[in-house]
Amino acid sequence: MRTPLIAGNWKMNGSLALVETFGQAFSRARLPAGVEVALMVPYPYLGAVVDALAATPVAVGAQTLSDRPSGAFTGEVSGGMLAELGARYVLVGHSERRSLFHEDDEAVLARVRAALSCGLVPVLCLGETLEEREAERTEAVVLGQLEAVLDALAPEERERLVIAYEPVWAIGTGRTATPRQAQAVHAAIRDRLERYAGSLAHGLRILYGGSMNANNAAELLAQPDIDGGLVGGASLKVDDFLAICQSAG
Ligand code: 13P
Repeated sequence: MRTPLIAGNWKMNGSLALVETFGQAFSRARLPAGVEVALMVPYPYLGAVVDALAATPVAVGAQTLSDRPSGAFTGEVSGGMLAELGARYVLVGHSERRSLFHEDDEAVLARVRAALSCGLVPVLCLGETLEEREAERTEAVVLGQLEAVLDALAPEERERLVIAYEPVWAIGTGRTATPRQAQAVHAAIRDRLERYAGSLAHGLRILYGGSMNANNAAELLAQPDIDGGLVGGASLKVDDFLAICQSAG
């Protein structure tokens, strides 16, 4: 059985006060057994979040990383630095990185490799735009993004990933994919993983992201191939985020 993972992605939001609020709330909360929780926060809050959540089982992650280990790359942050601060996860290929920061499949692969080389778990994000969905290209786009990374990795590297399916049209729009729509793409992803290895298809977690909230999480998480959530807006409200964590149990 795959351990469900609920990961919050704060994007460029939050504050040290919010870090404190989460630390206190998660110290008091009783998380359901067998559910993993992670919080992907902006770089400057990583150290504070690691400290605030130290007494809790919540893991910490970053939202991107440099594809280089070190050097004259002003403004960049390496995977080694993230690992040193206590990060376990890092998002790679989020649609906002792909579209706003022009990260193509090659750039995404380089970051996945950088993360793996530092012992971080890359959460590889995949997703189609509304235009692509309407042109019935959803599977071609999503599976293409998946293969661009998996084809280049060794079998033991593939097993260290988490996959996140986030339809671009559902991100930040309040328009969630229906459980049926999401399940169909998750099943297609799992089917494609099977081509690499049965153990990969069986073992990798595939998270759903896109307007997941406390009201719709349970139904999405009940789908057989949805192994957790990547939560944006609702991860900034501690009660909502806790409710989503509870619904994964
Ligand atoms: P929302 O939950 O705000 O739609 O964001 C989803 C997302 O992009 C998480 O990475």
